[in-house]
Amino acid sequence: MSARYPIDGARDALWRTTAVQEPATETLNSDLDVDVAIVGAGFTGLNAAITLAEAGTSVAVLEAGQLGFGASGRSGGQVNLGLNLGPQALIKMYGNDIGERLSEFVAQVPNKVFEFIKRHELNCDPVQKGWIQGAATPGQFGAQQSLARDFERFGARFDVLDSREIEERSGAHGYQGGLFSPSAGSLHPLSYTRELARVAMEKGVRLFTNSQVNALERESGRWHLVLDRGRVNAETVLICTNAYTDELIPGLKETLVPVRSVLMASEPLSPELRSRVMPNQITFVDKRRLILYFRYDRDGRLCAGDHGPSRDNFALSDFKDVKRRVVEVFPDLAGTRWDYHWGGRVAMTRSKLPFVHEIDRGLVVGMGYNGRGVGMGSMMGHMLADYALGKDLKTLPFPVTTPEKFPLHRFHPLGVSVAIKWQGMLDRLELRRQKG
Ligand SMILES: Cc1cc2nc3c(=O)[nH]c(=O)nc-3n(C[C@H](O)[C@H](O)[C@H](O)COP(=O)(O)OP(=O)(O)OC[C@H]3O[C@@H](n4cnc5c(N)ncnc54)[C@H](O)[C@@H]3O)c2cc1C
Repeated sequence: MSARYPIDGARDALWRTTAVQEPATETLNSDLDVDVAIVGAGFTGLNAAITLAEAGTSVAVLEAGQLGFGASGRSGGQVNLGLNLGPQALIKMYGNDIGERLSEFVAQVPNKVFEFIKRHELNCDPVQKGWIQGAATPGQFGAQQSLARDFERFGARFDVLDSREIEERSGAHGYQGGLFSPSAGSLHPLSYTRELARVAMEKGVRLFTNSQVNALERESGRWHLVLDRGRVNAETVLICTNAYTDELIPGLKETLVPVRSVLMASEPLSPELRSRVMPNQITFVDKRRLILYFRYDRDGRLCAGDHGPSRDNFALSDFKDVKRRVVEVFPDLAGTRWDYHWGGRVAMTRSKLPFVHEIDRGLVVGMGYNGRGVGMGSMMGHMLADYALGKDLKTLPFPVTTPEKFPLHRFHPLGVSVAIKWQGMLDRLELRRQKG
């Protein structure tokens, strides 16, 4: 692999070789009338589609690429508990009422996702054996302990682990302590996407792939989605395009910064190695400025993820950092072969939180998961469906807000790459200090 960009973030994902079969879909080539049109066929759009179809609504989902083209087909597939801000911060930001409702909602996310998978018999390798979040500094460990206390009153359990327990339970070196969340876990993200699509279509949803929505118009109280070879007319439109948001809605793209995350999967590890490196199929994420994350697939391949470059195609050299960092955390992996390399976009927001935004009557957006979209995106889908079904926006678990735009957005590739270099350097200095 000597070319500069030999790795395609979607095509080369491990998940492509191990996923369930893709359901047959069509491309839109005529006009269509539905109650609800959904733009984007990832976790968010497809969960919304199923809930709507179950309520008897006619639904069309329009996807510009193939199923799973966006982050949902490339993801690490960890179903974690929590947002980037804990209950205290959410209450401070949104007030008691919304902050508490949101915290309660967040506390239930993994259980709800795994229940949904079970109820619909989705064949997507769900594993609910818990997640460890490792603290890089004593300050982070202190904050984690109060987070665990805060979440307790909202019904979420986090066990506090000291550094020795972290090492015993995960095999990971170099952490000051951390949290174990038993309700979290992982799934096969592309199988999950394809299975959601299969169930949606079985329930009557019209799903169109290779069908990019080029324009959105409003006329006589209805929305018209304009595609190359047809139009979809709908009462309500849900925009579920997250980090792959294009120019369809003026100004929306500027509310997100797409940061790239790269992932790689090892050769299948021996049972003996697996008993030392993240035993019992737990998942792991650390709290360094540039987070490292790990999980196994069903064949015992370890998937390890890290930040990536500011572009969509990757070179093998983009994985140098993650390979070095993996061995710092798990020295036993020094000789491990890495068979798959891929990556994709993660949508960051200014508030560090996802948002629900009503642009106009019957036009609503739900996105901005900041790397937590497997669980949050799935639940956001159900929330958006509730909106389309006429539920009062004020009663949704997530507040309806106007997202803030990033200033100087068009310079973000440069900004992100400088920030990543800077944060990586701070992480390395911190590690060096800790090693003495
Ligand atoms: C490498 C990587 C690892 C990750 N790991 C994790 C993890 O372990 N845990 C976690 O919780 N989150 C993780 N995430 C984030 C998570 O995968 C995403 O938040 C989630 O998949 C978002 O789902 P979505 O349905 O909102 O968007 P997407 O899955 O990105 O789907 C949006 C879709 O919209 C389509 N689209 C855009 N514009 C148009 C248009 N005009 N017309 C039609 N279609 C359009 C795109 O083609 C795209 O397929 C990871 C992300 C990446 C990239």
